Amino acid sequence: MSSSLFDRLTEQLGRLPGIGRKTALRLAFNLVDTPDLARDLAEALNLTWEHVGECSVCRNLTEHEVCDVCTSRLYSDTVCVVHNPADMRAVEDAGLYRGRYFVLHGFLAPLDGVGPDELGIDKLREMTIDPGVTEVILALDSTADGEATSIYLARTLEKTGVSVTRLARGLPPGASVEFADSLTLTQAFEGRQKV
Ligand SMILES: [Zn+2]
Repeated sequence: MSSSLFDRLTEQLGRLPGIGRKTALRLAFNLVDTPDLARDLAEALNLTWEHVGECSVCRNLTEHEVCDVCTSRLYSDTVCVVHNPADMRAVEDAGLYRGRYFVLHGFLAPLDGVGPDELGIDKLREMTIDPGVTEVILALDSTADGEATSIYLARTLEKTGVSVTRLARGLPPGASVEFADSLTLTQAFEGRQKV
């Protein structure tokens, strides 16, 4: 086995979140031992990399110009703001919300160069000034970065005249939306409060 290519594969796998060195090694061995899997995975990665991008309206991941959620819920009066596509999936899977979304792809972090432009706040504002939209739900983590971003968004979006609410009860301090169970998320949505 060519050790340098194998090491490179292991190293790349190890860059994924939640994958330590041991797991990366185990995955790499498994891929080498299972050529079908390696080929299918490589093809899926290539196609994803080539075709999946951000929806031009809500920044959800899509292989189209506008994502299916935006297309099918164009007339919903609610926009739910989430940190990343994984959080959006968590809210969808909980089955409690069927409105529109906006995906920030990050939290405000001025020291790291992440400002309103990087989070696409102009696009979010565009969505909220649509007269059909009456409520924006901030479904962000209750971490320090999530809180700071929620406060900024509430102040910015209220100027557009829309009602801004946030998940209050149910989501304990420091909790992330992605890993909250469905019941907790449902309670957090139902207990949402005006900012
Ligand atoms: Zn979209």
